[in-house]
Amino acid sequence: MHTRVVSTTQLTPGMIRVVLGGDDLAGFAMPDSTDAYVNLALPPAGAPYDEVFDPRAVRDEHPRETWPVRRRYTVRAWDPAAQQLTIDFVVHGDRGVAGPWAARAEPGDVLVLEGPSGGYRPDPEADWHLLVGDESALPAIAASLEALPAGARAVVRLICDSAEHEQPLATEADLDLVWVHRDRPDALLDSVRTLDAPAGRAHAFVHGEADEIRAIRAHLLGERGLTRQQMSCSPYWRHDMDDEAWREVKRDFVAAMDADLDPA
Ligand SMILES: Cc1cc2nc3c(=O)[nH]c(=O)nc-3n(C[C@H](O)[C@H](O)[C@H](O)COP(=O)(O)OP(=O)(O)OC[C@H]3O[C@@H](n4cnc5c(N)ncnc54)[C@H](O)[C@@H]3O)c2cc1C
Repeated sequence: MHTRVVSTTQLTPGMIRVVLGGDDLAGFAMPDSTDAYVNLALPPAGAPYDEVFDPRAVRDEHPRETWPVRRRYTVRAWDPAAQQLTIDFVVHGDRGVAGPWAARAEPGDVLVLEGPSGGYRPDPEADWHLLVGDESALPAIAASLEALPAGARAVVRLICDSAEHEQPLATEADLDLVWVHRDRPDALLDSVRTLDAPAGRAHAFVHGEADEIRAIRAHLLGERGLTRQQMSCSPYWRHDMDDEAWREVKRDFVAAMDADLDPA
């Protein structure tokens, strides 16, 4: 489906919110998950097809080097009445395709996307919820916190560069939130290692940079006694690899990560 930028807002020095609208969103079927995501299709400069295109038709009819670049982004919010979709983009310098696209986006710009899909929603039967990640996971963590009812317990550890990159988070749940800054190696892992876990069964959501996430997952399985079933854990991106290079090795990385210590 094709959407058009309605508005952009600089949320922090490193994150831009893009609100999308357009008639195609009448068919947007939002799943019942708080980590719902869409697949963006971003054409290269000078692409020999219209700004409104069908990604499958482009793949059938045009040479590979002109195909759109694929990037996956969380649905930060979906407003069915206004038919508007909100995505929060990390802008990590000039590198990449999607981050720079968001930095340049202006009302009226076209964005082609496919989806949505999703897999996680906080388990209402859990005694407490652990949500851990970096800026790329912040949209899903923020949406998850908004879905938690009063009386739920949420322990949240988020990493960002500095205080000006922190964002306000709304929830009715009892919230234990710590923002960690990238001022030393393993800062996010250490914040999880040292947290006071509430009693009872946890349900965890742990997403972000691949190596960071893998270390935290191993700690939760090996030292905190969580099982895989209690955890939604996936590496969203990897340092020093663009998404094409990352997708080439992601399957092997996830297989190795899955083989890490699991007491279950
Ligand atoms: C299910 C899912 C949901 C996601 N949701 C979001 C979301 O809501 N918002 C969001 O911003 N990202 C999200 N991501 C991560 C996003 O898809 C990746 O960060 C993607 O690589 C960004 O594409 P790019 O074109 O900007 O950079 P790329 O071309 O992929 O990478 C260029 C360079 O930038 C580095 N890089 C990539 N991402 C980051 C980052 N976050 N911080 C610092 N450096 C980075 C790479 O290592 C590489 O060196 C999600 C990923 C998945 C799998």
